[in-house]
Amino acid sequence: MGVKNRLVLKMSGEALASTASDQTIDAATVDRLCREIAETREELDLELAIVVGGGNIWRGATGEMAGMDRSTSDAMGMLGTVINALALQDALESHNQPTRVLSAIRMTEVAEPYIRRRAMRHLEKKRVVIFAAGMGNPYFTTDTAAALRAAEIEASMLLKGTHGGVDGIYSADPKVDPWAERYDHVTFRDVVTKDLRAMDLTAITFCSDNELPIRVFDLMAPNNLRTALSGGSVGTLVS
Ligand code: UDP
Repeated sequence: MGVKNRLVLKMSGEALASTASDQTIDAATVDRLCREIAETREELDLELAIVVGGGNIWRGATGEMAGMDRSTSDAMGMLGTVINALALQDALESHNQPTRVLSAIRMTEVAEPYIRRRAMRHLEKKRVVIFAAGMGNPYFTTDTAAALRAAEIEASMLLKGTHGGVDGIYSADPKVDPWAERYDHVTFRDVVTKDLRAMDLTAITFCSDNELPIRVFDLMAPNNLRTALSGGSVGTLVS
């Protein structure tokens, strides 16, 4: 269900970092990803929203382990996602995509506040919407923020782009178990009962409750992004 051609793409923060250099945000990597997004969005006339993570900059759990207050540490993580969102905006605009960053934490000098109806209007006008600062609440991840925003804006699918070379959902951790099999399709129930590591469990149960299909795929392999945005079969479909 949802509006046809309206998609939410979740990009992990680490996808913007470089494996070759130690850049927190690698301009060449961001440019490549944004070029693929821009070309595909135009070709298919997509209404596209992006939720970007912040793991390349800070994760709330990291600070908590070092003894920080969890909510403060999560606020730092959310601010990290805003930095990434601005980098994506810059790169998308260099590929001629009108783009708006909507932040769940108010900072009106750099981004619009998140207002659902405004987000929908931007999408109708074919502006790429980047949702920043997750949901604005601590104790959540940007996976869950992506699921929530996708439901709110009536997207037809959530595309979860991974970066660690794991190109979908496997029967076991493929980095540990050489016999691990990649699934083309799994149900929400499979993910929960078999404890398949794909996405934050809160996000999975939310998508299940709201009948929002998810495609998990490797963001970094050339052309994968295009295939996923085009509705092609890549990685694993959860429905
Ligand atoms: N975060 C949060 N609430 C949200 C979304 C994110 O508190 O709604 C914080 C949390 O600390 C998280 C960090 O922001 O660790 C970065 O997000 P995430 O770990 O999801 O980024 P990714 O792994 O996708 O790069």
